[in-house]
Amino acid sequence: MVFEQGIKRLEHTAEKIGLEDWILEALKRPKRVVKVSFPVKMDDGTIRTFTGYRVLYNDARGPGKGGIRYHPNVNEDEVTALAFWMTIKNAVVDLPYGGAKGGITVNPKELSPTELERLSRAYIRAIADVIGDERDIPAPDVYTNPKVMAWMVDEYETIVRKHENGVITGKPLSIGGSKGRFMATSWGGFFVMEEALKTYGIDGKTVAIQGIGNVGGGLAKILHEKGYKVVAISDSKGGIYNPEGLDIPAVLEHKRKTGRVSGFPGAKDITNEELLELDVDVLVPAAIENVITRENADRIKAKLIIELANGPTTAEADEILKKKGVIVVPDVLANAGGVTVSYFEWVQNRMGFYWTEEEVLERLKDKMVSAFKDVHRKAEELKDDLRTGAYAVAVERVAEAMMARYGH
Ligand code: NAD
Repeated sequence: MVFEQGIKRLEHTAEKIGLEDWILEALKRPKRVVKVSFPVKMDDGTIRTFTGYRVLYNDARGPGKGGIRYHPNVNEDEVTALAFWMTIKNAVVDLPYGGAKGGITVNPKELSPTELERLSRAYIRAIADVIGDERDIPAPDVYTNPKVMAWMVDEYETIVRKHENGVITGKPLSIGGSKGRFMATSWGGFFVMEEALKTYGIDGKTVAIQGIGNVGGGLAKILHEKGYKVVAISDSKGGIYNPEGLDIPAVLEHKRKTGRVSGFPGAKDITNEELLELDVDVLVPAAIENVITRENADRIKAKLIIELANGPTTAEADEILKKKGVIVVPDVLANAGGVTVSYFEWVQNRMGFYWTEEEVLERLKDKMVSAFKDVHRKAEELKDDLRTGAYAVAVERVAEAMMARYGH
């Protein structure tokens, strides 16, 4: 189902740019799907068998790159769709990578830390033949983190009997992680937001953010420091609103102490639905997918939407927003800061020379701004929205590499 949606967007893009048929046919299919099952010993001595995947969608531009997800809903269709999206995202920001994704069907909350370690190491043993710093490079995704990456890289290096920490990114700093990785997606979103405001001549002083997790909370902090007014922010239980702007460090502290943002002194409690419809300059969905739909798109008042979450806008809502003249910076561009710094981590690992946080952020800004310009230029050329522009830029880049390899 999910993968079907990706294919529809690909077909639409192919038509727009006049893609050669054989390339479209090739891009509709993953290059390699690896499905593995492996037994893991539980703490009580019983043994459970788990299923995992690693999909390399396309590697015409370079090795595969994409995260590993631990979730009960992980299945082949979803992993394949996510690997397709990574192919697009990596090409939008012009990283020398193809696209890939992996996952294990598991509820990690049911496992102890030692069980989680055995699970992660067993998964790496099962897929070791298809990953490598010049084959396919995993990273964290939903419910995986630097600790899990550390176990994985250690297991891989034990198997290949040498150090090769560029095989996995999102590692702890002590074993080759990059400075700036933690806030990278938020910074990337900030850089494209500033570029979009400038390009479209929007005076973007007020911002509403849905989600105060890693990405939304990080962006809120950055915006607060840079003098923007974050007037609303939320978590899964609801949001808060103050038209004069929220004191973000105090909100984060309140969230840490009480486990929620609602009830923050001096702000009005609102619902997540109300947050999306506020009269603000910029709206940033940074939580979950499918929140801007045909039901509420018409009531959106923001002039600019920065999609930090993956898939927050449905295809029908996209059409409504386009008609209303709302600018949407699509997820494949807006939240590519994370994978871009993952790429920087891999570069540093392979050089064995490490950058300061300032150097990382400077390079990230360059990448994000030039990706935004490429996408904007393409959208203008096609007389379409930025999402179509982003897909067109990406598909053309992948197609060019495929032509170079297989064409005449
Ligand atoms: P997170 O788990 O740290 O935070 C998620 C936030 O969303 C939390 O504040 C949570 O309370 C809120 N939330 C959950 N359900 C909600 C609901 N129904 N309504 C409103 N808010 C809800 O996750 P994150 O790492 O910040 O990721 C957020 C989004 O950004 C996801 O879509 C993710 O795929 C995307 N993303 C993250 C990264 C990254 O580097 N972490 C990179 C690219 C894309």
